[in-house]
Amino acid sequence: MGKSIQMLDLLRRMAPAWMDDGLCADHPDPELWFPVSKASDAAADARAVCVSCPVIGACGIYAVAHGIGYGVWAGHRMDVQRENKRLRARYDPNYRPPAPPKPDARGVCARCGQESLQRNLSGDPPRCRGCARGHTPIGIVHAHMQTLIDAQWTLRAIADAAGLDRSTVRNIWHTKTGHVTPANADAIRAVGPTQAAAS
Ligand code: SF4
Ligand SMILES: [Zn+2]
Repeated sequence: MGKSIQMLDLLRRMAPAWMDDGLCADHPDPELWFPVSKASDAAADARAVCVSCPVIGACGIYAVAHGIGYGVWAGHRMDVQRENKRLRARYDPNYRPPAPPKPDARGVCARCGQESLQRNLSGDPPRCRGCARGHTPIGIVHAHMQTLIDAQWTLRAIADAAGLDRSTVRNIWHTKTGHVTPANADAIRAVGPTQAAAS
């Protein structure tokens, strides 16, 4: 007699009356309720019997109330955490599913006014990471660049006058939010509309 059959036998002798009505009680292959393999279909045959069992509710309540951690009960493998949890969610009145993670609250940087995830803000008043590092909010640089562009400067001309890579200046202009290093921001802001304009 296999170990699992012995366990089932012992359980039956101590069992509440409803177990006699379980379809597994006189099933010719009780080993089906004790799959060894963890494969997802290893308990498929037992599950197929459980779904039409007249005492499936009592079985689920019993398994949950006794904290059973082996075998298939009410169609659930109690040795598989995911299934065990699912049965508890259904039959344990005290079961509280873990709270879903809260969406990250957002806040506003007191210096640049840009919205950030709360965890990316620090200090009081709160500052975003870029501001905390002393970088220049991109909006300030954009405002200056816009003045130049209105005065017929091209991005290439701004880059050349600022002594910066053209790709750097292009990236700054096309980036919507964030910060610019102080050196790059100062170089761009030093370019004046009265300087020799667009080439
Ligand atoms: S639900 Fe499944 S495990 Fe429970 S008594 Fe019925 S057949 Fe057996
Ligand atoms: Zn900021």
